[in-house]
Amino acid sequence: VFVCLEGGEGSGKSTQSALLRAWLEEAGHTVVSTFEPGDTPVGRELRRIVLSPETGALSDRTEALLYAADKAEHVDTVVLPALERGEVVVTDRYVDSTLAYQGAGRTLPVAEVERVARWATGDLRPHLTVVLDLEPAAGLGRFEGRDRIEGESLDFHERVRAAFTTMAAADPEHYLVLDARADRDEIAAAVRRRVEPLLVQ
Ligand code: C5P
Repeated sequence: VFVCLEGGEGSGKSTQSALLRAWLEEAGHTVVSTFEPGDTPVGRELRRIVLSPETGALSDRTEALLYAADKAEHVDTVVLPALERGEVVVTDRYVDSTLAYQGAGRTLPVAEVERVARWATGDLRPHLTVVLDLEPAAGLGRFEGRDRIEGESLDFHERVRAAFTTMAAADPEHYLVLDARADRDEIAAAVRRRVEPLLVQ
């Protein structure tokens, strides 16, 4: 079973990932909790390049390709092997982040970005994507421009947010949208209710 958490900055993805993992492990599942970008040796290098303020401006297509490379490495060496072992994979960000940030955010043609991202991931799709929806101003308040993306305009982050909710609205069977401002235990319970039926398949 492959579950993805998506959302803007400060939406609580890592907290929810940890809560979901603890619940799954309690129920006896082996869980791989992972994230993009950067959860492989090559990915760590790519993350440093795409996110470090010292990198300066990157061409939008260069950025999209570096994220795609991170995804290819992530799927081939972490996600697919775990799924093949019958484990549950919970990832903090995946293809939808690229469609939202490099597509909608940077205003690259989303269909083209999607083609690259689908190729990079062998079109592997999560059984469920949870979108933790949050007004960008609220989420960004939790950081102080630690990386290049957090320094982007509010408009950029509004486009990212809209991209997530639009993708979710188009495919309710594979998405769950939750208000990220809700109590963290309520959010975790709502996530569990959607994940539980996937585990028995
Ligand atoms: O989720 P995390 O905070 O680790 O993401 C690091 C940064 O990378 C965030 O600022 C996020 O907005 C950005 N990002 C991006 N494009 C992606 C994935 C992440 O710009 N495809």
